[in-house]
Amino acid sequence: MIKENLNKILDKIPSSVTLVAISKTKSVDDILVAYNQGQRMFGENKIQEMSEKHNLLPKDIKWHMVGHVQSNKIKYMAPYVDLIHGIDSFKSLLVINKEGKKNKKIIKCLLQLKISDEETKFGLEFNQIEDILKSEDYNKLTNVKVSGIMAMASYTNNIEILEKEFNNAKKLFDRIKENNNEFKILSMGMSNDYNLAINCGSNMVRIGSSIFGSRNY
Ligand SMILES: *Cc1c(COP(=O)(O)O)cnc(C)c1O
Repeated sequence: MIKENLNKILDKIPSSVTLVAISKTKSVDDILVAYNQGQRMFGENKIQEMSEKHNLLPKDIKWHMVGHVQSNKIKYMAPYVDLIHGIDSFKSLLVINKEGKKNKKIIKCLLQLKISDEETKFGLEFNQIEDILKSEDYNKLTNVKVSGIMAMASYTNNIEILEKEFNNAKKLFDRIKENNNEFKILSMGMSNDYNLAINCGSNMVRIGSSIFGSRNY
């Protein structure tokens, strides 16, 4: 079913929207089914699991970290990670910059914007994101680049709430983008809300269970 699910989603989303297939808890064989359909971007939420899969799978896969990152583990993914989505502190950017230097690369990140009132959701406020990007401390960093915003909406089927949250993220994204050429990615939308997220301006969706089936843990 993975093949059919993936193709159905690719048919539905506009070509301007990038699909990150979220493969957390799923096997290397499952990932290979999607890979053989041409999918190259995969997302995980645990660094160790991602590194194990990176070792076993074809090297042209672009690995995205979508989970909350612990600073002390950044070094394990720095050599190969393509994009880190959930950055919610300047301290993490400092660590990523250090690891970027060690690996002689510029590591791309997204700052996570808090758009939901749910306690379980991490993220920065509007003004915190603007303050970081404007700060001299950030602009001195040579080996980390913030390429956009990641956001997670509330866990609800209430379209009005979801729209309000997504529109808030789009508003901030547009405001920063106006005078920041490196700001290109608005990552929002998961299995149950990606259509709405795209309608609200998302250009990167993170879809797991609608491709690989539900997760048992
Ligand atoms: C698991 C996860 C997803 C994918 O969720 P699905 O509902 O399975 O599509 C997207 N984003 C993040 C940050 C996740 O942790």
